[in-house]
Amino acid sequence: MNPEMADRETATGVVGLVQAYVNTLDLQDGPEELSDPNTLAAWLVAHELMESGQEVSAADLKHAIAVREAIRGVIGANSGGRVYPLDVATLNEAASASRLRARFGADGKARLEPEAGGVAGAMGRIVAALFAAMADEEWSRLKLCGSQACRWAFFDKSRNHSSRWCTMASCGNRQKAKRFRARAKANA
Ligand SMILES: [Zn+2]
Repeated sequence: MNPEMADRETATGVVGLVQAYVNTLDLQDGPEELSDPNTLAAWLVAHELMESGQEVSAADLKHAIAVREAIRGVIGANSGGRVYPLDVATLNEAASASRLRARFGADGKARLEPEAGGVAGAMGRIVAALFAAMADEEWSRLKLCGSQACRWAFFDKSRNHSSRWCTMASCGNRQKAKRFRARAKANA
């Protein structure tokens, strides 16, 4: 990770899980953490979304990445972006394919759980986390960096929810420099 990115804020709980999943890809500096079916399986097992020893195919990887980018899309709405029908369709498909059902746990609390196993089930757990995250008061603070080259999911801890970049030190200043250069060019 780029050292200037070290001060990027992270959320906890379900919002944190959604954020961590979206940020398995750092568009600006790399790397892609989900680079093959094995790394996807390892990530899902490490985050207790899938049992180990499950078969993960190239098609599963493609599906998991599509779900990740659809989640990135809906987070964009928190920073003023529009929601694309393709992202909505991808999330609805992931919810259906995993056969999410409401289940009451021993603690008497309801949650969404997938009936499907494997990667389809894991994607269902991520969609369930997204569902719970959207009901969390912290949700509106999860935003996408305003830099089109970055689009990192950051947690806006500013008091009035006004942050636009994942870090002022990197993306904020880069955007400012870009605008400065554009102005200088226009005035030349
Ligand atoms: Zn950024």
